[in-house]
Formats: sequence, C-alpha cells, structure tokens
Amino acid sequence: MERKVIGFIGLGIMGAPMATNLLRGGHPLVVYNRTPAKMQPLLALGAEAGQSCQDVAARSEVVISMVSDSPDVEQVYLGAEGVLAGAKPGTLLIDMSTISPVTAVKVAKAASEKGCPMLDAPVSGGDVGARNATLAIMVGGDREVFERAKPIFELMGKPVYCGPSGAGQIVKACNQIATALHMIAMAEALVLGAKAGVDPAIVLKVLSGGFAQSRVMDVRGPRVIQGDFQPGFRSRLHYKDLNIVLETARAYQCSLPASALAHELFGAMQAQGWGELDHSAIIQVIESLSNVKVRSRRNNE
Ligand code: NAP
Repeated sequence: MERKVIGFIGLGIMGAPMATNLLRGGHPLVVYNRTPAKMQPLLALGAEAGQSCQDVAARSEVVISMVSDSPDVEQVYLGAEGVLAGAKPGTLLIDMSTISPVTAVKVAKAASEKGCPMLDAPVSGGDVGARNATLAIMVGGDREVFERAKPIFELMGKPVYCGPSGAGQIVKACNQIATALHMIAMAEALVLGAKAGVDPAIVLKVLSGGFAQSRVMDVRGPRVIQGDFQPGFRSRLHYKDLNIVLETARAYQCSLPASALAHELFGAMQAQGWGELDHSAIIQVIESLSNVKVRSRRNNE
C-alpha cells in the first residue's frame, strides 16, 4: 500500500487506538490533541507532534479527525488555526466524528471550495472495535474519493460506501437509534428479572442464547450486572447522538416515538450527573424508577 503522511486530530477513547492502527499499518503520522498529554503514547510509538490543526494539515497528505460534536468539527476545520487554514489543495480530509449530517455537508462544501475532497466517515464498534480494527465505517462523499481512501479505512475496520456527502452521518444516526433502544431493552429486562427475584446472570444467559440476543447484550451485559460503567462510550455522547437523530427526523418529517423516549431517558442520565459513565449506565435510570438494583447474586455472595 502507498505510504501517505496522515494527520490525526483527536486522540480520545476512539481516536488514540485508530491512530495507533494507522501507524502500525506503516503510515507516518502527525498527531494533534487539544490536551497535549494525550499525544504522548502515540509519540512514544513514533508519531510526530503537530502544534495545531492548521500545522497538522500543512504537514499531511491525508487528515483524519475524531472529535466530539458538530461545533468541535466546525472549530477543527473552519477555525482560525483550523485544518482549512493549513491544507494544501488536494489534501484528502476525513472526519470520523459522529456529528449532524447538516454540519458534515457544510464543512465538506467549505473544504471543496479550498480544493480539498472530504468524506464523512463515522464509525460503530466502540473502543473494542477501535483497538481491534473491526469498526463498521459509514462513508459519505464522492465514490471515487471513497475508493482512494479505502486502504486507509481498512486499517481501522470495514468501510461501506453510503452515498453523497452527509450519507455516512445519516446511517450513523440510524445506528445510534438501534444501539440506544437495545441498551434500554436490556436494562428493562434485567430490572424486571431483578425485582421479581431472578439472578440477573441467569436472565442474561437465557436471553443471550435466544431470539433476543444482541451485540449490545453480549458486550455490555456482563459488565452491567457487575455494576461496571467505565466508558466505553460516554453517555453524554450518546445523548448528543440522539439529539442528532431527532433533529434529522424533524428535517425529514419522520416520526420516531421510541427514539424520542430514549432521548428523554438519556437526558435524565445527564441531569443525574452520569454523563461521563458508559451509556450502558442507562440501567441506573430504569433501576431508579422501580427502586431496585440489578447485580448478579453470585457477584454479591
Ligand atoms: P472522547 O474520548 O471524549 O474524545 C474526544 C476527543 O475530541 C478528545 O481528543 C478531545 O480533546 C477532542 N476534542 C473535543 N472537542 C474538541 C475541539 N473543539 N477541538 C479539538 N479537539 C476536540 O470521545 P470518543 O469516545 O473518542 O468519541 C469521539 C467521537 O467518536 C464522538 O463523536 C463519538 O460520538 C464517536 N464515537 C464514539 C464511540 C465510543 O464507543 N467511544 C463509538 C463510535 C463513535 P481533549 O482530549 O482535549 O478533550
């Protein structure tokens, strides 16, 4: 594969392992993180430090960003010291953050005016998928640009072309509906079982072997019944995604009643101060409604 200098901006829970996989894949890397200390592990592996988003872009043939929300992506690309202030025409830009499709299209248009092709490429698969390079990658933009970027995506997971600019973010919004509702379904099942006196480990074992089985349950279930809510995926980010879902639904006159309920329940998590916990901590909201705690009995013995 052709070695390209890749600039990577945003080394959080997802960005750090994704950048590590690009480095292991043989690409020279220039990294930037707003909080500089988070760059250290990548620098120790041989990446170079960028001074700003602008500096990273000026030194790279491809720029990838993995930051939190729509305003952050606007700041990273359109800000005074942003990517577009530094990128040479022809530099390939890829935003892998989960943001509003409207913002994705707006930033890609500004990039195109500077002669830089841009893809929206949000991911699913969590921190485990990021470490194992098994992320589902949902890509919007020109198909020809997607084909050029494919070998880079394949170092992080499985890319799927979804359609024109913004289409990757639309598919990601669909994904976040299903993930939130699976999480709530698991929480309600475990709460009913616990309140009625059945060991949550038994409930989980039986459901995981039948039609109700899901990846959410397989990956998060065992941790939930241990009361382990270390992120993973911070609940404040899933709340942000459910806001994107409802905004997008309104724009397309689409009625999503269960997503609206999920949005309210995830909102309650934020009000309780649980925004930094993993999104599976939604079970704490469901537990509080019935005044019960779900813990494996074996764990308590
Ligand atoms: P995270 O651990 O909170 O990391 C966020 C990163 O973005 C940090 O490096 C942060 O810098 C940087 N950042 C935020 N705002 C910025 C700004 N205005 N300018 C420059 N840098 C900024 O979050 P994460 O879990 O890696 O998630 C990143 C994105 O992936 C989000 O859009 C999320 O929804 C999505 N996602 C996450 C998961 C998951 O399981 N975690 C799965 C799929 C998709 P600092 O270090 O300075 O704060």
